[in-house]
Amino acid sequence: MSKDTLRQELLDTRNRLPNETRRELSRLISKHLLSMLPTDTLQIGSYMALGSEVDLQWLHFEILASVHRLYIPRILSKTSMEMAALDHEEQVTAGAFGIATSLQKETIDFAALDWLIMPCSGFDQQGYRLGMGGGFYDRALEYCEPYAPLRIGVAFSAQQASFEPDPWDQPFDWIITEDGFIRR
Ligand code: ADP
Ligand code: MG
Repeated sequence: MSKDTLRQELLDTRNRLPNETRRELSRLISKHLLSMLPTDTLQIGSYMALGSEVDLQWLHFEILASVHRLYIPRILSKTSMEMAALDHEEQVTAGAFGIATSLQKETIDFAALDWLIMPCSGFDQQGYRLGMGGGFYDRALEYCEPYAPLRIGVAFSAQQASFEPDPWDQPFDWIITEDGFIRR
């Protein structure tokens, strides 16, 4: 099966989860992430959920109220994005592709993030990621060193699949589902 066909199947599976289930599982995933946070300050890259993606809003509120700093993607073109600081929930605005982004000017290099939390349409046992087919995260991480940032994928367990990664695919170090942690 091609990556495109599998991606569509996995998106269909995710879309079929009832809203209430997605909300509950998203909260569990947020809790798992929260329990991983150290006491020293982290620069945390995350994302604003679109459609049926795992929604980390609950985690974001906790981060905003903590010593840690939050950054979210801002799409710049069909191939690139940057990570913009988000210090207050009122600083959110609609961005490209209908994805919420930050109004704040301050950005951070991907390599300067401690954590990068990413959505996916699917993941495999080896930690490989299926995105939306844009390759945004693959390109952003191409020149980053291992574990800088720590690549964290979040997904519902129903999104686990088996596929052949492409040479440019950047794997996750950790995957968090409602069932807990998977370490590569
Ligand atoms: P996704 O990771 O979003 O599921 P793919 O891995 O299929 O999507 O990548 C989508 C496109 O992005 C591919 O056509 C690929 O050629 C391109 N791409 C990915 N990484 C890079 C990179 N590091 N440099 C240039 N193009 C890339
Ligand atoms: Mg890829």
